[in-house]
Amino acid sequence: MTKITSSEWALASRPVGMPNLSDFEMRKTDVPAPADGEIQVRNSWMSVDPYMRGRMYDRESYVPPFQIGETLQGGSVGTVVASAHPDFSEGDLVSSMAGWREAWTAAPASVGATKMPKTGLPDSALLGVAGMPGLTAYAGLLRVAGLKEGDTVFVSGAAGAVGSTVVQIAKIRNCTVIGSAGGADKCALVRELGADHVIDYKKHDSYDSLVGALKAAAPKGIDVYFDNVGGDHLQAAIEVARPIARFAVCGMISQYNATEPVPGPYNMIQVVGKQLSIRGFIVSSHVDMQPQFLKDMSDWIQSGKMKFEETVMEGIETAPEAFLGLFQGRNTGKMLVKLG
Ligand code: NDP
Repeated sequence: MTKITSSEWALASRPVGMPNLSDFEMRKTDVPAPADGEIQVRNSWMSVDPYMRGRMYDRESYVPPFQIGETLQGGSVGTVVASAHPDFSEGDLVSSMAGWREAWTAAPASVGATKMPKTGLPDSALLGVAGMPGLTAYAGLLRVAGLKEGDTVFVSGAAGAVGSTVVQIAKIRNCTVIGSAGGADKCALVRELGADHVIDYKKHDSYDSLVGALKAAAPKGIDVYFDNVGGDHLQAAIEVARPIARFAVCGMISQYNATEPVPGPYNMIQVVGKQLSIRGFIVSSHVDMQPQFLKDMSDWIQSGKMKFEETVMEGIETAPEAFLGLFQGRNTGKMLVKLG
């Protein structure tokens, strides 16, 4: 049994507004050989995700806050290098919540570690299109928004991990898709993924202009809005919603670093007249869909109906930079850190 070392990241201070690199501190620790019931794993990939910003506030939420000085957590994929657990063997691929570190030893259940079946997909996909963001798109669109064939769907953050999957699932279900993203390159990708209309929200940088672009793309209005961004996007979606439209509210990244209370949509009164259903959701409430999701996703990827992009940063030392990049639009598709 081997003792190895791991570089890992802890929260040094709670960010105010946009986080800084100085809010994170890296340290090296020894990773002991596994005791009875434990496994020792070397991570090969770790994920940075927008929801982690919420865990940096000291407040009650659906997940507990990160504690100052403690190693951060997040999705990761790695290989078992030593096992003292009857269900795990050396060489097994595991997915866990023990990210932000190169290696770890723990009882699998304590870090949500599960052995991954051979899917034929690259390991990194288990943190993106075939992992948590993929399931978020799948559950949000099919269950929360109750997608129907022929719907007109608007999705914001359409070049990101969740949004790019939403675009493609909606196309697979024969819907008309409008995607918004920031910048010409991202918009070109969204169109390549099959969106019928693309809105560069950085060009349409006033609320009226965003509404104008949406009305031009969907003259008869939208049936579904998949919200990744909040703010003006949500208000504009309410404005162009058809009666009985359904909103799956997945995230509001435009507000995660706000230091002042953010104004709500000014047109909420339309929720009454149009009889809109606006429903927030958290992916972990929909894990019962995982088996069907994995089956559908593997089929779609293998048949070429589902494509995925990744933005890869190299090395554990780049993890905070990768995380900050999410709020600066530096990623196309899933933002990942490849570990050495
Ligand atoms: P992305 O891959 O979409 O990365 C973030 C992207 O958000 C950026 O690349 C940028 O794209 C965009 N963005 C950043 N700041 C702003 C802003 N101020 N206004 C508009 N767009 C902005 O992340 P994910 O796909 O992982 O997550 C997308 C959303 O889904 C997030 O809100 C996240 O919190 C949420 N989420 C929710 C889950 C749930 O269970 N409810 C689970 C997983 C994710 P661009 O350059 O186009 O602006």
